[in-house]
Amino acid sequence: MKALRKYKFWFLTGSQDLYGDECLEHVAAHSQEIVETLNKSGKFPYEIVWKPTLITNEVIRKTFNEANLDETCAGVITWMHTFSPAKSWIIGLKELRKPLLHFHTQYNEEIPYGTIDMDFMNENQSAHGDREYAHILSRMEIPRTTVAGHWKNEDVQDKIASWMTTAVGIAESSSIRVLRVADNMRNVAVTEGDKVEAQIKFGWEIDTYSINDIAEYVSAVGEEEVNALTDEYYEKYDMIYGDKDEKEFRRYVSEQARIEIGFEKFLEEKNYHAIVTHFDDLGYLKQLPGLAIQRLMEKGYGFGAEGDWKVAAMVRLMKIMTAGKKDAKGTSMMEDYTYNLVKGKEGILQSHMLEICPSIADGRIGVRCEPLSMGRREDPARLVFTAKEGKGIAASLVDLGTRFRLIISTVNCRKTEQEMPNLPVATAFWTPEPDFYTGVEAWLVAGGAHHTAFTYDMTAEQLGAWGEAMGIEVVYIDEKTDICTLKQNLMLGKAIYG
Ligand code: MN
Repeated sequence: MKALRKYKFWFLTGSQDLYGDECLEHVAAHSQEIVETLNKSGKFPYEIVWKPTLITNEVIRKTFNEANLDETCAGVITWMHTFSPAKSWIIGLKELRKPLLHFHTQYNEEIPYGTIDMDFMNENQSAHGDREYAHILSRMEIPRTTVAGHWKNEDVQDKIASWMTTAVGIAESSSIRVLRVADNMRNVAVTEGDKVEAQIKFGWEIDTYSINDIAEYVSAVGEEEVNALTDEYYEKYDMIYGDKDEKEFRRYVSEQARIEIGFEKFLEEKNYHAIVTHFDDLGYLKQLPGLAIQRLMEKGYGFGAEGDWKVAAMVRLMKIMTAGKKDAKGTSMMEDYTYNLVKGKEGILQSHMLEICPSIADGRIGVRCEPLSMGRREDPARLVFTAKEGKGIAASLVDLGTRFRLIISTVNCRKTEQEMPNLPVATAFWTPEPDFYTGVEAWLVAGGAHHTAFTYDMTAEQLGAWGEAMGIEVVYIDEKTDICTLKQNLMLGKAIYG
């Protein structure tokens, strides 16, 4: 699996030379102290790098272009310690291509009432300087996130850390490469889309190979490797034999080990980070990739079923944006399958034919081999489990013909009231916010798909900010949603995005 770059964020402080060298020395010392403190706080998933104070047009332009060229720089944080005439920033800002956070802070937390004089006020005037700077950002319509507050304030630090996740999503989106070894399922509308437009908007490369190109890699995997990985499965998971004898069961399971190894080799060699399959287009494969795809998703690959490349790319994007998150609870492709409509117990049972990522599993994971009602192949081995409880987001990127819309629903996962012993697939069970009925109706009104990219480890705001940065409409379904306002927002989206 392709590792993420070791991303960093640049901290850029603005000032000018009007108040003398001593003042500029203070500015530099203050910003260095802020950066050191932020890095030591343990709040940030990425390192913040201090840069010398920016005071002239030339230095600002040069620094922004250095940020553009530095592949490890995922974004810039800017702050005007004193006053920095904003015309100096125009050319640099025009050329900046990295995500921007405007950090509106000031060095001192409290006004030093007893000692404050004009020198102090001139030196600590971000309330003044940041207004000048924000004005030019607004006039130039520069997309950015604005965070206001003292740099030691933990809520303020959390907001910056949250933005970093979005910034990394923006930086990495254009590196996502999706491998299609099957086309869209016949007659299905919502999984279709414009791949050229997706590359223009999101930077995704979406390429097709024949299923048998990858099936050859699967056939070529040696028995020793297959046996070793099958042994690993037997150590790690509970085998649920059902009515199969143990030898036959192991043969089915080992077929998925062969697929996992073959698929991963192909993906690595050709440098793809997400894959789509289709149960109706399996070529020489003996089984629909189930357990194999589940394990690849756990390793960080994106996946979409029935040719759904949009979901494959979105799952990969979520895997990137949540990589390295402390106490992560998981990210997976998901599908709205069936409802519980009993009053007071409403929820949507989430699953797929096989392919749910075990990163979301709660407790032990089992392996079962059961026939598929579709697919016309051997009974595929798959991992079965139930998902963790807690809040998450389910996202659907739909192609409306002339543009994309990203729909993000905040959902609350819980256990089903009873176990489902005859259901041989992994499941989650959730209720959308603000309540089941409004959440489901809103999803339908917005045209959301049945496949989603789901994660516990990111907020709707973090993903939505990525969508905004990509220049697409973002529709939130959350605790504040009501259908009337949603419809107005959709009309507004139509007016803005066409
Ligand atoms: Mn499906």
